[in-house]
Amino acid sequence: MTIDLKNLTVEKTQEHFKNGDFTVRDLVNAYLETIKEKNTDINAYLEVFEVEEQIKKADAMLKDGTATPMTGIPISIKDNMLMEGHIASASSNMLSNYTATYDSFVVKSLRDAGAIILGRTNMDEFAMGSSNETSAFGITKNPVNTEYVPGGSSGGPAASVAMDGALCALGSDTGGSIRQPAAFCGLVGLKPTYGTVSRNGIISMASSFDQVGPITKTVRDTEILFNAINGYDKNDATSTPTEQRLDLGFSRGTTSALKKRIGVPREFLKGDGIDPQVLENFEKSCESLENAGYEIVDVSLPLIKYSLAVYYIIQPAEVSSNLARYDGIRYGHHEDGKDLLSVYTQSRGQGFGKEVRRRIILGTYILSHGYYDAYYNASVLVRKGIRKELMNVFEGVDAIITPTSPFPPFKFGAKSNDPIAMYMSDLFLAPANIAGTPAISIPSGTNSDGLPLGLQIMASFLREDILFTIGKDFENSIKN
Ligand code: GLN
Repeated sequence: MTIDLKNLTVEKTQEHFKNGDFTVRDLVNAYLETIKEKNTDINAYLEVFEVEEQIKKADAMLKDGTATPMTGIPISIKDNMLMEGHIASASSNMLSNYTATYDSFVVKSLRDAGAIILGRTNMDEFAMGSSNETSAFGITKNPVNTEYVPGGSSGGPAASVAMDGALCALGSDTGGSIRQPAAFCGLVGLKPTYGTVSRNGIISMASSFDQVGPITKTVRDTEILFNAINGYDKNDATSTPTEQRLDLGFSRGTTSALKKRIGVPREFLKGDGIDPQVLENFEKSCESLENAGYEIVDVSLPLIKYSLAVYYIIQPAEVSSNLARYDGIRYGHHEDGKDLLSVYTQSRGQGFGKEVRRRIILGTYILSHGYYDAYYNASVLVRKGIRKELMNVFEGVDAIITPTSPFPPFKFGAKSNDPIAMYMSDLFLAPANIAGTPAISIPSGTNSDGLPLGLQIMASFLREDILFTIGKDFENSIKN
C-alpha cells in the first residue's frame, strides 16, 4: 500500500504495524524517499544516517513482543544532541568536525525504545535564534510556504516533520525554540518541566533554561514521545528524582480532577507588536475551549511582562560562561595565531557566528565586576518573583493560555538585522523557561495568508498531564 505520510501519526503507525499494512522498512523507505525529494530545497536535515541496523532491531522487537509505542517510528534529532559516532555541531563552524563519543540520554532512550533515528537536523547556531537563519550550514525553509522562516531554533526538526521527512522530532527549548517552530510549521511542540528530561549529552546553551522535548503532529504523539524520553538520570545533576516527581503530582496517564478553569493574562496581550490576526485567532481559541467545557477567566500576572528582559540577561550570561570552553585548543575550531591570545581570538572569532558572539559579549558585560549586581543579580530576583506569581495563579486555574508567537511566520531577512525585533518572538514563550514550568504549543488555525498560528498552554510544575488533557480537548474542539 502507498503510505499516506501526511495523515500518519505515531499512534496510528503502531496499528498499521500490527495489522501488517506496512513494515518498518516500508515506512522508513517512504520517509527516505521524501527526504531525497525535498531536503535539497528545505534543508531540514544536515545529515541522514544509515538505518539498516535500527530497522532490524525494531523488527525484532515487534516480533518478540518487546515493542514500545516508539518502536519502528522514524524520528529526526536536532544537531545539539550527541549521538555516538556522529557529528554534533550545534550548526556551528566551531563544532563542524566534532564527533560525539557517546549517546545523549534522550537518544539512548529512543534507541532502547526501538525508534528509528533518521538523521540530524539544522538549527540556529548553538540554539540562539528564532528563524533558523543563524545556522552556519544555511537556512531551513518552512515547508508550509518556502518563502517563510520555519521558526527557530529548532527549525530543522520542525521542518523535517512538516515536509513529511520524519514522523516526529526532538528539539530543544531554552526560550521557546520548540514551541515557536512547531507553531510556525503547523505542529505540536512541548517544552517539558525543567528537570524531567535529562540534559546529559545535550550541547549546553543556557543551562538553567535548556530542556529537550517533542515536536509532533498531534498532542497524543507528543505525549507518547515525552513518555519515551523523560525519566530520572543520575548523570544530570538537575534531573528530578522519580519519587520527587510523583510527590509533586507527576502522572503518566490519568489526570486527577481538573478545575476546568483556564486563565488568560489579559494585560500581557496588550503590548505593541502583537499581530491583530494573532489576537483574533486567540479569541477564537478561547471560544473553542469554552465549547469544550472550560471556563475562561482573566488572571493577573503583573511581573510576567519582565520575562523577556530577564531572559535576555540571564540567557547571555549563561551562554558566555558555557561557551567559554570552546577555546580552539581542547576541541572546537582551531586557528593558528602568533601567541595564545590570538589563538583564542582567531579561533573563537571565526568559529562562532555573529549572533553567538553578540550573546557572549553581552553576557560577559552583564557578569562583569560592577555590573552583575545591577543586571544578573537583579534578574535572578525578578525570576523568582515571576515563578512565585505563576505558582499562585496555578492555585486557581488548571492552565494559562496565550498565543504561541506574537506574530505569524515571517519572511527571510525580515528580522535578521534587528536583534530586538527577533527577540520579540519569545515574548509569550520565555515565562515558562524562566519559571521551569511546562508549556505546549498546539496548531490553532491559520491567518489570511494561510500561515499557521499556535495556541500556547502553560501548566504548573510536572503537570504535563494537564497540557495533554486540555490539548486533546482543544484539538477536538477545533476539528468540529
Ligand atoms: N529565540 C530564543 C533565543 O534566541 C530561544 C532559543 C531557544 O529556545 N533555544 O535565545
